[in-house]
Amino acid sequence: MSMFEDIPVGVGIIYEGERIRGREMQVELGGPREQYKFELVQARGMDEVEDGKITIIGPDIPGLKQGTNNPFGLLVEVAGREVEKDLEGVIERRIHEYLNFIEGFMHLNQRYDIQLRLSKKSYERGLNSFNLIGKILYRLFKSEMPFIEKIQFTFITDPPTVKEWYEKAMRVYEERDARARGMSDDEVEVFYGCSLCQSFAPTHLCVITPQRYANCGAISWFDGRATAKVDPKGPVFEIPKGALIDPVKGEYEGVNRTIQVKSLGEIQRVQLYTAFGYPHTSCGCFEGVAFYIPEVDGFGLVHRGFKGQTVNGLDFVTLSDLTAGGRQVDGFHGVSIEYMRSPKFLQADGGWSRIVWMPSEIKERVKDFIPTDIVDKIATEKEVANLEGLRSFLKERGHPIVERWIEAKPVEAEAPKEVVAPTLELPPGMVPIQGIPAGMGLKIILKNAKIRAERMIIRVERGK
Ligand code: SF4
Repeated sequence: MSMFEDIPVGVGIIYEGERIRGREMQVELGGPREQYKFELVQARGMDEVEDGKITIIGPDIPGLKQGTNNPFGLLVEVAGREVEKDLEGVIERRIHEYLNFIEGFMHLNQRYDIQLRLSKKSYERGLNSFNLIGKILYRLFKSEMPFIEKIQFTFITDPPTVKEWYEKAMRVYEERDARARGMSDDEVEVFYGCSLCQSFAPTHLCVITPQRYANCGAISWFDGRATAKVDPKGPVFEIPKGALIDPVKGEYEGVNRTIQVKSLGEIQRVQLYTAFGYPHTSCGCFEGVAFYIPEVDGFGLVHRGFKGQTVNGLDFVTLSDLTAGGRQVDGFHGVSIEYMRSPKFLQADGGWSRIVWMPSEIKERVKDFIPTDIVDKIATEKEVANLEGLRSFLKERGHPIVERWIEAKPVEAEAPKEVVAPTLELPPGMVPIQGIPAGMGLKIILKNAKIRAERMIIRVERGK
């Protein structure tokens, strides 16, 4: 009997990456419209956990109105002789992977940012209780992480209980994050890599260092160390730093070698403390985005929970699309909130003296880590609404970025030259794509597309 024969829908890696749109969903748990949502793993003593126990506080799935979003919390308690506090973050991150194994179930993000959707189809096929979802998680955790000897799950949909636990969870996340503060990347010999998000962004690899927290904000260097020890074949592994190539940009031989292998040659170099050139790749789970604003030569920051438009008129979703996918995009950089607290934060680009705008909520959270002479010079949505306002604000407050404007030499505008598009004779029956000169380089990225081909020809073109 297979492990999931009594489950009414499929469970397996083939369902990872499945998207459930609003009109297809039975119900949403958490999500951007809900303030209170969380998932939290807690390491407990052996006698505090009842192995396999599933508790539901609040209405089960049939009690949640179709098509609605709901406050939601998932508390997972684990015990085992090898289970230690440092493993909590990584076990927690696996919830994302395992829930995405379920047919018709989607899980996005982590911690206090989670968004879960159950499809109408899977609900109608019988996936209609948190008891079933708990059973799946139980079996996956026990088979994939054998060091977990006991595990129990509490699903919470009762709004006051979600809120109460959300507040507790936020304190736990803060305590975890604070652990690695004060440690330096220079004092360790190894970093940790995490390839968990490669199912969504195949060329992405997180390089987790004491001073560069994982993009999702869920895995610290300590968490990486604890996990690589108990689960050496898992997605979190050691990266020997190797020789230091550039201390300001944060480039290491060992990191480059690992990223070349793990990205199958797609990414050759990574510089950890910059958003230009060879920046750390961004999957899609990042907590925030640092985005370059050419009009003022500075960076804006935005976090996932910010619902309005940023100062350049784009919202988080749009900026996130420009950033994600495991690519290195100049000036669009996925970051965690904890990385903003690091002394290495965008070090090569000027650090905090290059940041010009950020939402007030996130500014409040990281305020104590922004240099005191800069903090009041960074605008938020409360002070400015557009780029014009931002320029005046920065000048008025004497933001250090203004000196860069003065330093920049005015460039004399050149008269536009006529551009002659190359021509290419096309075989009969072929029509050139309108608007793009035939013969010019063109990169097409297809997202969520299925391609069916009867034949594929791979031809080496010499002399190019
Ligand atoms: S964002 Fe990075 S650290 Fe977090 S799960 Fe994905 S790959 Fe791992």
